[in-house]
Amino acid sequence: MGGTASTHKLIRDDGKRYDGRAPDELRPITIQAGVLKRADGSAFVKWGDNQVLAAVYGPREVHPRHLQNPARAIVQARYNMASFSVSERKRPGPDRRSQEISKIISEAFEAVVFVEQYPRTTVDVFIEVLQADAGTRCAGLTAASVALADAGVPMRDLIPACASGKVENTVVCDLNKEEDNCGEADLPMAIIPRTGEFLLLQMDGHFTYDELMQAMEYNFKALNYIYQLQKEALRKKYATVQLEEPFVLPKREEPPAVESGADVARESPAMPPDAPQPGEAPPEMDRESQGGA
Ligand code: ADP
Repeated sequence: MGGTASTHKLIRDDGKRYDGRAPDELRPITIQAGVLKRADGSAFVKWGDNQVLAAVYGPREVHPRHLQNPARAIVQARYNMASFSVSERKRPGPDRRSQEISKIISEAFEAVVFVEQYPRTTVDVFIEVLQADAGTRCAGLTAASVALADAGVPMRDLIPACASGKVENTVVCDLNKEEDNCGEADLPMAIIPRTGEFLLLQMDGHFTYDELMQAMEYNFKALNYIYQLQKEALRKKYATVQLEEPFVLPKREEPPAVESGADVARESPAMPPDAPQPGEAPPEMDRESQGGA
């Protein structure tokens, strides 16, 4: 939420946003579960121009050991933005922003994972932002949640996340980068859909009370839709195809009966028409054309 001026109008005269979306419209989202072979669970999320990969390992032994909690598991999420994920190369490695996002994501998952079932262990969650276009913490949470379910980590529920905000005095759902950078407010939010409990609620910028209610309403609607997508992605991975009736292999067709060698030679499609018949002498070689003496 930079608050910097945009080079063009972010809300057009027809009320639509400059990318053509209505104020309450999300960017296209696709979620794929189980994309990595070596992780215990994984997911890939494409959300507008965001591309985020999440991998989960565990529950497994904690290293270093002094981090172990004898009463429960710990969830260690690491959010990382690749150097090539933004238009100007990002300095690799952790910075304050990525540490903050890693912390809020770890805390969100500690509230849904049944951590008390796995004392002294860690559940490691890696979130790699391959392409960033605003809303990456929400895309990361959404992807990691599917990856945790894919790993079979017991959880109270999946976590969907989304950020609505305010642009040129209009409340809009799911900010893109230009809107995030030049808008007036940003409200990332994540909930436990079954209970409606908040797991993440951050606010950057200024909303009036009515604008805040509107942004939250947009988020709630978006979260419900994203939750359905998350479940659909998991169902797709584990879908089984079932036959309605018992399947019997079709009988193999018998080849036509062969009576004699002559028949074989006549009927064989591989045999060229001018080839010698069985018992016939091969045709004389044209010695001149072969260059022979
Ligand atoms: P989120 O990605 O969750 O919206 P921010 O509001 O902090 O988090 O960032 C908004 C967007 O700004 C990011 O998605 C990314 O496109 C861009 N951005 C963030 N950090 C950097 C950076 N270090 N260099 C370039 N662009 C960045």
